[in-house]
Amino acid sequence: MQFKTIQANKTKSIALVAHDNMKANLIQWCLHYKPTLADHNLYATGTTGKLIQTQTELPVNALISGPLGGDQQIGALITEQKIDVLIFFWDPLEAQPHDPDVKALLRLAAVWNIPVACNQASADLLITSSLFGEAFERSIPDYDSYIAART
Ligand code: PGA
Repeated sequence: MQFKTIQANKTKSIALVAHDNMKANLIQWCLHYKPTLADHNLYATGTTGKLIQTQTELPVNALISGPLGGDQQIGALITEQKIDVLIFFWDPLEAQPHDPDVKALLRLAAVWNIPVACNQASADLLITSSLFGEAFERSIPDYDSYIAART
């Protein structure tokens, strides 16, 4: 696989997802970092997005609810370079009916090399990074050379 470097803008597109037992935790986290989050474009799965909007008043692009395909929508946006950061408070103590979608989302985040936080400590570290509010470069698969090598 060949890679190329792209630049994530100063203003980031951030995807926020929380499983049911983790939603209160993510909302508290959003309230805590509201001034920082307000400088960026927020996306979320349906229920998470609706709760963040009503409880924090941050504007959120709410997609479909996770179990109905929202995780897949976020994964698709990641492949299109439309998401720069994933904050995903998944529940390590309860099985999810859409576990294949959860795995697929985490896999695509790894393929496209976006910063991912899967718990509060990681999310704290990520959002307080000096690069969070700055442009930064990341390496991604070079699709043109990938397809050229296969055709
Ligand atoms: P929800 O989806 O925000 O619609 O609850 C999250 C998930 O379970 O993936």
